[in-house]
Amino acid sequence: MTAIHPQTLLVALAIEFLALTLVSLPAWRALSTGGGAARWSVGIGAIGVGMGLFSQRGISSGLLTVVLANGCMIYGIQSIYVSVRNIYEVPPLKHWQHLLPLACWIALSLIWAFDSSPGELASAMWRVALMSVAVAVIASGIGWVLLRCAPRPWSMGTWYVCVALVMPAVAQYFRTVHFVYHPVPVDPITSPISAVSVFAAFAACGVFLTYGFFLLINDRLRVQLEQANARLAEDAATDPLTRVANRRQLELVAAKEISRARRYGWPLTVLMLDLDHFKRVNDIFGHAVGDQVLRAVAESAQRQLRGHDLVARIGGEEFAILLPQSDMLGAEVLARRVLQDIRDTKIDALEGMIVTVSIGIAALKEGDENLTPVLHRADVALYRAKAAGRNRVAIDESAMEWPAAE
Ligand code: GH3
Ligand code: MG
Ligand code: MG
Repeated sequence: MTAIHPQTLLVALAIEFLALTLVSLPAWRALSTGGGAARWSVGIGAIGVGMGLFSQRGISSGLLTVVLANGCMIYGIQSIYVSVRNIYEVPPLKHWQHLLPLACWIALSLIWAFDSSPGELASAMWRVALMSVAVAVIASGIGWVLLRCAPRPWSMGTWYVCVALVMPAVAQYFRTVHFVYHPVPVDPITSPISAVSVFAAFAACGVFLTYGFFLLINDRLRVQLEQANARLAEDAATDPLTRVANRRQLELVAAKEISRARRYGWPLTVLMLDLDHFKRVNDIFGHAVGDQVLRAVAESAQRQLRGHDLVARIGGEEFAILLPQSDMLGAEVLARRVLQDIRDTKIDALEGMIVTVSIGIAALKEGDENLTPVLHRADVALYRAKAAGRNRVAIDESAMEWPAAE
C-alpha cells in the first residue's frame, strides 16, 4: 500500500472546505443578522483556499504557499469568530481587535521573508508557533462567546461549534509535541505526521463547524420567529395611539373574566368613559394635541387600576375599563378617582384648559352572555352622565347585586 502524500490530504481538505462553503451559502439569505452568515461562508471558503495553497508547498512560490496561505487561514478563522459573535448578538469587534491577527500574519510573513535557508525551513518552526498562537487566541475568543453568551443550556449547535474548536487544538498539540521530539528542520506542512493530524482534525472540524452553524442559524431563526410572533400578538391586542388594550383584547379578556365570575360567583363591573367636549380640543388646539390628551387620559386611567383591571380604547375618545371582582360600590369609588385624576392632569399644550370625562358604570347580570349587554348598559348610564352636565359618574339604574355562588 502506498502512503498517501501529505499534500494530497491538504488538497482533499481544500476541496472539503470549499464544498462546505457552497453548502453554507444558502444561509446568506436566511439570516437577518447583518452579515453573520455571509462572514461564516467567506471564512470557511478562506480556510479552503488556504489549505489549497498549503498543498502547493515546494511546488509554488513561498509567497503563495506561506504568506498568502497563512493569511487565508488567519482571515478565515477570524471570520468564523466575527460570525459567531454576530449569531449570538455580541457587539462587533473593535478595530484594534482586527489588527491582532493582522499583526500576527505580518510578523509571520517577515519571518519568512528574512529566512535565507534553502526552502525557508529554518523559520518554519517559528511560523508554526506564531500561527498556533494566533489560532489559539481567536479560538479562545470564540470559546469566550460560547461560554458567556450562548443561551443555557447549550443547544446542539453550540456543542457542535465547541467540539469543532477542540479538534484542531488537539491536533496542534500533537503536532507541537511531535516537533519537540523531532527537532530537525522540516517543513511542517509536508511532514506526514503533521499533515495527517491536521487533516484528521480539520476534516472533522469543518463538518462539525458547518453542521453546528446550521443548527445555530436554526436556533436563531426560531428565536426571531418567536419574537416576531410576540410583537404581532402585542400589536394585535393594543391600540397604537394610547398603547392600552383595543376592543378585540377587551372582548377576549372579558370572555375569560365573565366565565370566572360565573364559576366563582364574583362580581364584575365595567366603566364606560368618554371625554367631554373633546371635539373642542381638536378644533382649538389641533389633532396632535387631541392625541396627546387621549394618551394622557389612558395613562391616568391606568394609574388608578389594580393589576387585573383592564383599560381598553374602544372608540375615538371612548374607553372601557373592565373591573373583575369589583362590585358597583368599588367601581364607583374607582370611577370617581379616575374622574378626579384626569381633571387634575395638567397638559401644557392645553394652555390651562381642563379636560374632564363622563363615566357610566354597569355590572354583569345573570342573563348576560357576553360583555355586549354590560357595555350597552354602561353606555346608557354614560349618556345620563352627559345629559346631567358631564364631568360626573352615573350608575346603571337597573343594577343589581350579583347573586352569591350556590
Ligand atoms: P361629548 O362631551 O358629547 O362627548 O362631546 P365630544 O366633542 O367629546 O363628542 P363628539 O362625539 O362630538 O366628538 C368626538 C371627537 O373625538 C370628534 C373626533 O374628531 C375626536 N376624535 C376621535 N378619535 C380621535 C383621535 O384618534 N384623535 C383625535 N385627536 N381626536 C379624535
Ligand atoms: Mg366625547
Ligand atoms: Mg364619544
